[in-house]
Amino acid sequence: MLHWMYHLKIVNQMMNYRKISFILSLITLIFINGVSARQAREDSPQVAALKRSLEPVMALSLKEIVALVPEASGSTYIGCPNCRGGAQDLNVLTWEYGMGEKVQCRFCKMTFPNATFPNNKQKVIVAPSGTKQVYNYYEDPQGKAYYFEAHAWYERWKWVQKVAAQFTDLWEATKDPAYADRAAAILGRFAQVFPDYAVRFDYPSRPLQFFAANQKWPYEGLQPYRGSKWNWWGYSDIPLDMARLYDRLQKGYDWKRMDQLIQVKTDQKIVSDLLLKGYDHAAANPEIYTNMSPGMYEDMIAVGKIVKDPRMVDDGLKRFNAFIEVGFFADGWWKEGATSYHNQTIGNLGNVVRAAELDPATMPFYKKATDVSKQAILPNGRKLPINDTWAYERTPGKGTDQTVSRLWPALGNALLGTGTGKDQIALNINWSGNYGHSHYDNGSIILYASGEELLSDIGYTHTKYRGATIHTAAHNTVVIDQKGQDAGTVEKPVTGRLKYYDDTDEHVKTIDLDASPAYEIAKTYRRRLVMVHAAPGRDYVVDLFDVEGGASHDWFLYGMCEEEGDLKFSIAADKKLSTLVPEWGGNKMPKNQYDVDLKGTRFHSYSFLRDIQSGNTNGYWTATWRYAQSGLRSHNLSQTGTEVYRFRSPSIRMAEEDNNKLDNYMRNGIMQRHNGGKSSFLSIHEPFTKDTWIDSVYRREDEIIVKYKLNGKQVVDKINLSDNKVSVSSSAGWSYNSGTPRTGIVEGLDQAAGKWSLKLDQAVTKVAYVRLDFPGGDTHYYPVSAVEGRQLKLKDDPGFTMKNGQIKYHTFPHTKYEGILRYTVFEK
Ligand SMILES: [Zn+2]
Ligand SMILES: [Zn+2]
Repeated sequence: MLHWMYHLKIVNQMMNYRKISFILSLITLIFINGVSARQAREDSPQVAALKRSLEPVMALSLKEIVALVPEASGSTYIGCPNCRGGAQDLNVLTWEYGMGEKVQCRFCKMTFPNATFPNNKQKVIVAPSGTKQVYNYYEDPQGKAYYFEAHAWYERWKWVQKVAAQFTDLWEATKDPAYADRAAAILGRFAQVFPDYAVRFDYPSRPLQFFAANQKWPYEGLQPYRGSKWNWWGYSDIPLDMARLYDRLQKGYDWKRMDQLIQVKTDQKIVSDLLLKGYDHAAANPEIYTNMSPGMYEDMIAVGKIVKDPRMVDDGLKRFNAFIEVGFFADGWWKEGATSYHNQTIGNLGNVVRAAELDPATMPFYKKATDVSKQAILPNGRKLPINDTWAYERTPGKGTDQTVSRLWPALGNALLGTGTGKDQIALNINWSGNYGHSHYDNGSIILYASGEELLSDIGYTHTKYRGATIHTAAHNTVVIDQKGQDAGTVEKPVTGRLKYYDDTDEHVKTIDLDASPAYEIAKTYRRRLVMVHAAPGRDYVVDLFDVEGGASHDWFLYGMCEEEGDLKFSIAADKKLSTLVPEWGGNKMPKNQYDVDLKGTRFHSYSFLRDIQSGNTNGYWTATWRYAQSGLRSHNLSQTGTEVYRFRSPSIRMAEEDNNKLDNYMRNGIMQRHNGGKSSFLSIHEPFTKDTWIDSVYRREDEIIVKYKLNGKQVVDKINLSDNKVSVSSSAGWSYNSGTPRTGIVEGLDQAAGKWSLKLDQAVTKVAYVRLDFPGGDTHYYPVSAVEGRQLKLKDDPGFTMKNGQIKYHTFPHTKYEGILRYTVFEK
């Protein structure tokens, strides 16, 4: 499977750049409508500032400007051979105008090349035009190449495009052709040199490779889009930004002014040798519908419109239409199940919609997917950090006022939530499978309460510890026999079976997940969560994890990533251990993000557990995390013979993508180990702000008793989790019952005019959800909008059709079933 990397920083840079030019265009528009427009434009502070910043470039002759355009392909990915700071060879070595062919490390500030790291090697490429392109580079004693010079070219390539945009802005504001000349010269020069740009394979931690400049896909040994000509990734080979500048210059610039400097008909040359050539290279790759694809569709449509080539526009639209069906779950999630990638994909699809001037109202599925982006957040505005999601992606101050529960049954994720303002609580559980950018985290929970992410999932990183962050052992779930969960595929999915879900009660929200597909060896791997809302800011979670299969079961719980805080146990755990890596486990430490080892024979994930202390328990004990603003106490009702551990492990988030800082920030974690084939881990998690508030937790026969005070009065809650049922009764005057199951056969699925209705074999009472039990054991849960006797009206498109015993999903992962479809409803 391909590993898709998401380059947020680059995307951000590009977006900022587009945003800036948008703002400048806006200013221009406003002034044009004014009375003395020309005067105002020229005198505006923005225009003056832009003029000042461009002064050094403006001082150059047009010939010197032309020489700023790199004549050969640059290279993006390069690390620092001196300090090895940063991560994934990206944004480590910097360049700015005036540095020539030198680059500087952002971390240790060393400038390259130098006497210690000289250009000691050379690569010569003869381009199609016959031009010799010389790449000087440094090769270290291990044979790793550092293309400092080519990296400076790449940075200059980016910079000179930005300069061209700024000159276009100035021309539009002042109508002074001297500015447009500079933009036109840059564009024209690109059109001259682009056909000679070698196709390259430019990838972190891998050697830079070159292919002939006129060679299109395929490239030996490379996946589609990995050979690139314009940018570092083939998806971005259509120069949309340059096309936009060309389009703006077309509105009044006299191209004859380029006849001497570039050539006669420079404008046509830009179209044929830059824009169309870029399209030809990108479009030659096979269509594989990834999260990067919509960006390319936008480029095809937008550039196609600019150069008036309907072939390009049609190509982009055709791919766009197929994309929606190929890559989304029925509940609107992008198949990779990572919020960052979902948002990226939806954002780029939005750009396609705008470029093609489509009407979103005619695309209900697009709206559903857009809603997911808005809903998959924690109360503080952070993107729900499941799978490869950047945990720092959030808009400060853009949190939610109220948390409501969300169920995404097709993806395999549920968020139980309640509360308003500072009392919001969100408990997330994930079983999203492995369809790219996934973590091996079936059954793992995230708990947000008291204004913070008390139980975290690290999220995404490009640092060398990435292998640890995606491993089961970095998640709040159970590890069997010290090995990671199985890796799933479309053919053999590793997801989960939702057995029960209920978010309709004011006091109790509950979920029952069979996550056993996670481990082939597991007979049982089941987590039941009961979130009890006693009063605003008084919530607790009953957490029962049953496991059977394998010899040892390690139940993990990790505290906050943002703050290490203080962790205290109620029992002695003072035996110091140097490591928890089993004898067979590998003790190597990873060198980069690709050093991933789920089974642990080379890089065992337990080598990230440091300062380990252990103890034993035969029953009740607590672990309490205290932070500056919040805390969490876990009351554990452990089985006899449970070993307990506490440790520190890298929290990753705070290191801000710098490999050299990964060991500076830790989080406190605990682990319970139970051996003997069958385990039952029962805990009650109690979030608090300043002080703990639960008085006692204990078990009496089949019941869990939780005692606390509300308004000075003692309250006793009794929770019963036996027999596949959940009941809670509180002395505060309320009770909850999960209902009585009723099972039968689904006789048909009617679909008409955007409405979906299941025909059952018997009448049922009013329910909020229906569980569908597919042949082979898969389950899916659907919200019900109304019950009319035997007709169960669904709120939404279930994502499948049913005809003559054939059940077929038209949404990802396009599963087909044959046989009887059963349903289960829980009547209360
Ligand atoms: Zn450095
Ligand atoms: Zn994770």
